Amino acid sequence: MKKESPLEKKLLYQRKLVWDELDQESRKKALSFAKSYQEFLTRGKTEWEAVIEGTKIAKEAGFVPLGKLKKGFNEKKVYATNREKNLVLAVLGKRPILEGVRIIISHIDSPRLDLKAHPLYEEENLAFLKTHYYGGIKKYQWVTIPLALHGVVVLKNGKKINLTIGERKEEPVFTITDLLPHLAAEQMKKSLEKGIEGEALNILAGSIPHKDRDVKERIKLAILEYLNQKYQITEEDLVSSEIEAVPAGEARDLGLDQSLIAGYGQDDRVCAYSALRAICELENPQITSICIFVDKEEIGSEGVSGAQSTFLISFLSEILNLSVPGATELQLRKLLSSSKAISADVNAGVDPTYKDVSELRNSPRIGCGVVITKSTGKGGKSGSSEASSGFVAYLRNLFEKRKVTWQTGELGKVDQGGGGTAAKYLARHNCEVIDCGTPLLSMHSPLEVAHKADIYSTYQAYLAFYNG
Ligand code: MN
Ligand code: MN
Repeated sequence: MKKESPLEKKLLYQRKLVWDELDQESRKKALSFAKSYQEFLTRGKTEWEAVIEGTKIAKEAGFVPLGKLKKGFNEKKVYATNREKNLVLAVLGKRPILEGVRIIISHIDSPRLDLKAHPLYEEENLAFLKTHYYGGIKKYQWVTIPLALHGVVVLKNGKKINLTIGERKEEPVFTITDLLPHLAAEQMKKSLEKGIEGEALNILAGSIPHKDRDVKERIKLAILEYLNQKYQITEEDLVSSEIEAVPAGEARDLGLDQSLIAGYGQDDRVCAYSALRAICELENPQITSICIFVDKEEIGSEGVSGAQSTFLISFLSEILNLSVPGATELQLRKLLSSSKAISADVNAGVDPTYKDVSELRNSPRIGCGVVITKSTGKGGKSGSSEASSGFVAYLRNLFEKRKVTWQTGELGKVDQGGGGTAAKYLARHNCEVIDCGTPLLSMHSPLEVAHKADIYSTYQAYLAFYNG
């Protein structure tokens, strides 16, 4: 390669590979960070599991429940959960809180298949479970792979029954069958969108008939009997359940050089985990730091646990009240308008096999670090909150100071498609916010891919943001 002239060096922007920028020590740290992230990913496949795992990590780092603080408390690190689907953490800073806080918001829900209220049925001596997909999926990717069920069933008396089937070696897995190629001539003529229909996402769940030959649906009854013996539930109890079918198995190293991670749910647990680890590392920061895990991002941030819920503002209000007892609504609004936030969500790295959907001058590359996305949205930036250039400059300066390798990125070519994040739900409170997260390959698929160096760069970026 031709060497850069001094003028080129001075004037041209150069994307860099994170790996090249890390010294031996940092590379080791990056690999060990990736290892613990992989464990988090494997154990936290649903919103509530991510909250449980996140809470464990927070407690180990010395965070105490917000609700348990006594008068005259000394604790600086607090956390709270909301409906078992949100985790929020705060580290109180030395500077007055009304000067503003640093918020990193990420989401812990991922595309998946939810069981319907009456999922179980029998046909041709096989038992199946009906599903309704959650979030944006390419349906054909979810057939003929091993699936696990993760769920909570709530009985009429309020008792909760947790179940996870399909993750341990000794447990069975589930799958959605597909047509053999020999008989798929008609199916193969359909578009990828129609090849597998939503109502075809039926999970195969059993095949041994009940010993009583006189009952109508022997396979279904046998499955219900099994569920009743093991979990004390009936068919009606499934009405009040949340059971998610997710890809079975662990997150794994990928590639001969083991440089990548393949696993389900990296959108957006890669950012959630990076933010969590960053906030856990803070000791006596100048500025109050806040980490928020939201749910329902994949279906529009609606619902009581989504970014549009008031739990978010209530939590900030509680944190404000720790420093300013009896704070007013106006003070809360001032706090929000003087705060800075990162909407920590993934972006799509350029896939060399599908380059056409990206505008290569402005698309993030795998291995080139955390991605700053000034605006998201569709078409003419529709649905985006767009960050100010002043905020981008602030981050750019901060990342340079803290030696974070970063890049910019947009989600695909203009008019190719697009998507939004939770950023706008903070922006509407007049809080300055920007999207900043890890680039992925195969986003929303059962096996998403991230580069270990990008994950480390994401963590470094969030740590830099908290430290200011
Ligand atoms: Mn996301
Ligand atoms: Mn997503």
